[in-house]
Amino acid sequence: MFSTSKTFHIIGGGISGLSAAKFIRQKHKNARIIIYEAAAHLGGRCFSFYDHKLQRNIDNATHAVLGANSEVKKLLTNEKFYKKIFFRKDKQIHSRFWQEVPFILLSIFNTQPKQIAKSLLMSLACKLFPFLPAQRKIYFSQGDLTEKLIAPLSGFANEVKTGWKLQSFTSVEDKINKLKFNQGEIELSKDDIVISALDAHQYQQIFNGPQFKFNQITDIYFRTSVPLTLPNNIPFLGSPDNLADWIFINQDIVAVTISDSQDIKLSDEELARFVWQEVRSVNGLTPAFLPPYRVLKHKRATIRQDEKNQILRPKSAQTQYQNLFLCGDWTMKDYPCCLEGAIQSGKRVSHYV
Ligand SMILES: Cc1cc2nc3c(=O)[nH]c(=O)nc-3n(C[C@H](O)[C@H](O)[C@H](O)COP(=O)(O)OP(=O)(O)OC[C@H]3O[C@@H](n4cnc5c(N)ncnc54)[C@H](O)[C@@H]3O)c2cc1C
Repeated sequence: MFSTSKTFHIIGGGISGLSAAKFIRQKHKNARIIIYEAAAHLGGRCFSFYDHKLQRNIDNATHAVLGANSEVKKLLTNEKFYKKIFFRKDKQIHSRFWQEVPFILLSIFNTQPKQIAKSLLMSLACKLFPFLPAQRKIYFSQGDLTEKLIAPLSGFANEVKTGWKLQSFTSVEDKINKLKFNQGEIELSKDDIVISALDAHQYQQIFNGPQFKFNQITDIYFRTSVPLTLPNNIPFLGSPDNLADWIFINQDIVAVTISDSQDIKLSDEELARFVWQEVRSVNGLTPAFLPPYRVLKHKRATIRQDEKNQILRPKSAQTQYQNLFLCGDWTMKDYPCCLEGAIQSGKRVSHYV
């Protein structure tokens, strides 16, 4: 029953590709699994790194995880999930979750609430029903995405080839027979399986996949001379009235997230100055000198999760090629594009192979 001969070639070492390796390993104990990753590191859109300007470890983007995200939670068993979410509206701080549903939807889907595909809203509502407080608990990363989420998933492949970028492929009839990377070509045996764990844009470019529209997320990190606190020492704050949607405190790092941010036409410095004033105003402080900052703009943070894109998302992990299967956050039609969807997609693809 367990295959020994076939090799699973996973293209993309983000959280979905790494999860695919894990779930395939559970099913095919002796299989050979190779991950090919274009970048020099694993993690894709989810990783942390040492920022030389700030002289701190930061995440490529602060990631928040809800208690409802069961697969991500398995990786975060020792981590603190906060029970309450605080918001600042009309200059008042409150924790009435239900009042801020449109703002929360914007954060979950990285898409304006009115544009979000109805079927996605329905499936989210069904998954969260009966909306227990435990499902609304929240965790946020603190410069430790690689350590907390990527490292535990990294040991399931026999080989990880970083710096290997897939450029094209060839096929015979309905089977892929050769993968062409920047570092060389891989001939496939007849039983070999290819799993695309590529982001939607790269999948479109290489495999002629659907053409999606994407939304940007901008993250801004400030390193303060003394740790800044939010009112009542809360660790993070949602601000529906502000440009800075979320403010997260991690010792002397203040991290700000702005969803659906492609229409903001400010330079990095203008944006950092503007957002820094908002951060200071939360505490009633007058704007002070701009501390060292880092602005990270992710143009294709997620696909826009609207009706047009929803139709384009694949119905299953199968493709027109017999030996090519799909995973990746964008491939899970019933999930928002997020870490949970990415892991679930890795699990799903293991059922097909
Ligand atoms: C700014 C930002 C904020 C986010 N915030 C949250 C959040 O708060 N909560 C949450 O749950 N999710 C959040 N997400 C979404 C989450 O990061 C993604 O859903 C998840 O990381 C997607 O994983 P993936 O493996 O599907 O795709 P990716 O991480 O994109 O992985 C694809 C991999 O393929 C590699 N690759 C690309 N082209 C090639 C090629 N030709 N050959 C080989 N390899 C290739 C890439 O380098 C990458 O490693 C956020 C994302 C961003 C960008």
